[in-house]
Amino acid sequence: MRSLAARLSVMSGEGALSVFARAKELERQGRSIIHLELGEPDFHPASPVLDALEKALRAGKDRYCTVSGILALREELAAYLLRTRRIQVDPGNIVLAPGCKLSLFLTLMAIVNPGDEVLYPDPGFPGYASITAGFGGVPVAYELCERNGFQPDPDEIAAKITPHTKAILTCSPNNPTGTVYTDAVQRRIAELAVKHDLYVLSDEIYARIIYGDDYISMFSYPGMPEHTVIIDGFSKSFAMTGWRLGYAVAPPEIAEQLDLLAINTYTCVAEFTQYAAIEALRDTSGSTPKMVKEFSGRREQFARELNEIPGFRCPAPDGAFYAWVNIAGTGMSAEEVCRIMLEEAGVAAIPGAAFGSSGREFVRFSFASSNATLHEAVERIHKVSTAWQGAPAGR
Ligand code: PLP
Repeated sequence: MRSLAARLSVMSGEGALSVFARAKELERQGRSIIHLELGEPDFHPASPVLDALEKALRAGKDRYCTVSGILALREELAAYLLRTRRIQVDPGNIVLAPGCKLSLFLTLMAIVNPGDEVLYPDPGFPGYASITAGFGGVPVAYELCERNGFQPDPDEIAAKITPHTKAILTCSPNNPTGTVYTDAVQRRIAELAVKHDLYVLSDEIYARIIYGDDYISMFSYPGMPEHTVIIDGFSKSFAMTGWRLGYAVAPPEIAEQLDLLAINTYTCVAEFTQYAAIEALRDTSGSTPKMVKEFSGRREQFARELNEIPGFRCPAPDGAFYAWVNIAGTGMSAEEVCRIMLEEAGVAAIPGAAFGSSGREFVRFSFASSNATLHEAVERIHKVSTAWQGAPAGR
């Protein structure tokens, strides 16, 4: 039989997408489903962004354009990162891509040789381990434990660095835990990266969605501009998931290779969306702060209400829009709890193991839905929680 590339066999899909598929099937059968499985803001870009898109299209900005992204957008991104993260980046080191995920994919493609080890957070975004393995690399998990407030433990990271380690992946705020890494933790990770000459791939896609102090980028620490690749995009902070707009800010030797990879794959990002993205970054209507304020209110209500469900334990997250709920107290597996919630209550959420083995006893809910919808979801879960209240403790 004809065979396909072996590298695919070590890659995996995403739990969120398979739960979504089942939820959609139930909807087709006429069931009412509350979708709390996908990481997608329930907002849309503000009208100045749509106006800019239309204007660009009418002006004929629908051609092939600069591979790394139009200069006006890269300059605007540099100004935006200075304003919102207090970091000074060179527009020449920014490469746009159709989605943050592709920036991550191509960056790993640019740096990982077979056998290279990449440290990544567990629980974390499923792509980290899958893409690393797809390029023949060895994903090495570092744990985000509940008893440690889901912060990375720099001692654990230090102990896992070997002569084969190439990079450390960080994600603050983290998907799925919502953890904003502390300054002290980030500083120690930065010191390790500089000491061992490693790259840090800093996934900052949720950087604007935080509920506390100012955001600190991994790029800010001494020696880190030469070691950091910032992975970011417009999906979450600007509610533009379907626009497929992401970017990497990379040291010149990587930015150059990202350009080469862009030439070999997507050629350039759609020109008119880049003009609209400039408007999104300027955010003249204050859409991002308004969205974050709304998320902040939901986060408090939702975490409080989830904590009232028997067997559920959930701290309010520091960032992103996910509730990461410890369900060990139900006496059931996260898969079983999610199955009951979806099939019997019509509430779609994701078993935590989809984000790594440390997530086994957790369930992730997205709170990118209105307060009323979230409240109804909790009421529905309350009703079916009798299933586990009667279950014997432990498994
Ligand atoms: N990184 C993290 C941590 C994410 O949660 C996601 C999306 O859920 C991505 C990257 C991918 O972003 P994009 O939709 O821009 O490809």
